[in-house]
Amino acid sequence: MKKIAVVGAGISGLSMANYLEKHNIDYHIYERRKKDDLTGHGFLLPQEGLEYLSKIIDCNLLFEQGSFLKKYIQYSHKGKILAEKELNNVFAISRQALISILSQNISPDKITYEKTITLGNIGNGTLKNHHFNADLTIISDGSRSRIRGEMFTKERIRTVRENEVVNIIKNKTIADSIDNDFMKFHHEEGGLTFGILKLSSDTILWYSQFDNEKYRINECTPDHLKMYMLEIFDQWHPLVSHIIKQSDYKNVHLWHVYELEKLNPFYKDNVVFIGDAAHPLIPFTSQGVTSALKDSFTLTKHLVEEENLHEAFRKYEEERKPEIEIHIKNGRILLNQFLLPLDQHTENILPISYK
Ligand SMILES: Cc1cc2nc3c(=O)[nH]c(=O)nc-3n(C[C@H](O)[C@H](O)[C@H](O)COP(=O)(O)OP(=O)(O)OC[C@H]3O[C@@H](n4cnc5c(N)ncnc54)[C@H](O)[C@@H]3O)c2cc1C
Repeated sequence: MKKIAVVGAGISGLSMANYLEKHNIDYHIYERRKKDDLTGHGFLLPQEGLEYLSKIIDCNLLFEQGSFLKKYIQYSHKGKILAEKELNNVFAISRQALISILSQNISPDKITYEKTITLGNIGNGTLKNHHFNADLTIISDGSRSRIRGEMFTKERIRTVRENEVVNIIKNKTIADSIDNDFMKFHHEEGGLTFGILKLSSDTILWYSQFDNEKYRINECTPDHLKMYMLEIFDQWHPLVSHIIKQSDYKNVHLWHVYELEKLNPFYKDNVVFIGDAAHPLIPFTSQGVTSALKDSFTLTKHLVEEENLHEAFRKYEEERKPEIEIHIKNGRILLNQFLLPLDQHTENILPISYK
């Protein structure tokens, strides 16, 4: 079997490594960040994502680190319940916890941190360095993949009309005051929400999604983000304003969201793309992680079954692209709905894209 270089140790790169590990395929991962530098947000994982995770990790570890959500409850910003929906095996976990779990099966000599790979290093996919000569390279360097941009020079990437302020806080009193539900408060005029997810008995994740044409944040230091949150959500339901006031802001982060105008091919020469690098998916779909896991699973399957590398890549793209196109379409529907005033909402209320 061929030797494989993987660029990026996010969810897709690490899940790929886990699948390769299962099949005894030789690989090496290159990651730009420092080993312990794991800022981030959290994920909602639908049941399908859990099924793909269970193929590569011990799910008991996962269940210790996150929680199943019982109900989705949609509120107006003043707290009137607008809709409720039972959730079937939807799981919430922080990005940091999931990355740590996925890293556990990777031997330290198979991953090099603080190494940024460029297209110049890769050539036609046969990435070579002093200790590892790869026959093919799997790119999992995220939604703004520079390697993808340099390889497909005609691609057009655009910022989505939505940003997110995300914060993860350890606060037992706040965590005790809420159930294991997914609560989301919506401004009547649209384009502004506040979501709350309980990650564990003492940790919650909250986030604000906002229309970046209506609401502007000029600086993203923790102090500025705190000021912004206090100002914008001051008159919202007391639970919202209370959480915002009581939160520690050391983990707060402002996320910009990107999408491709049109998907590129998922491979070229001996280089193949997975996860957000192949297909950025906006957070509204809640399908980024599940899609990354399915990409890794499908690509591994074809690499194992097919002698011919390009046939394996072709089959991988053929299997994955149609589903991704559905999530992109659903994501745009959810984004458009988010921008509309509440009384004009028509679609399914659940902020998850199902194929
Ligand atoms: C605010 C927000 C909320 C979200 N919520 C959800 C959700 O609820 N559910 C869900 O399923 N998805 C969600 N997503 C999407 C999800 O985060 C992504 O789909 C998923 O993390 C993609 O993982 P990835 O490994 O492909 O990319 P990334 O996580 O971006 O990882 C890329 C890695 O590559 C490294 N890298 C970059 N360039 C180089 C280079 N040149 N050389 C070496 N290394 C490099 C980076 O340091 C990084 O570690 C959300 C996204 C955001 C922004």
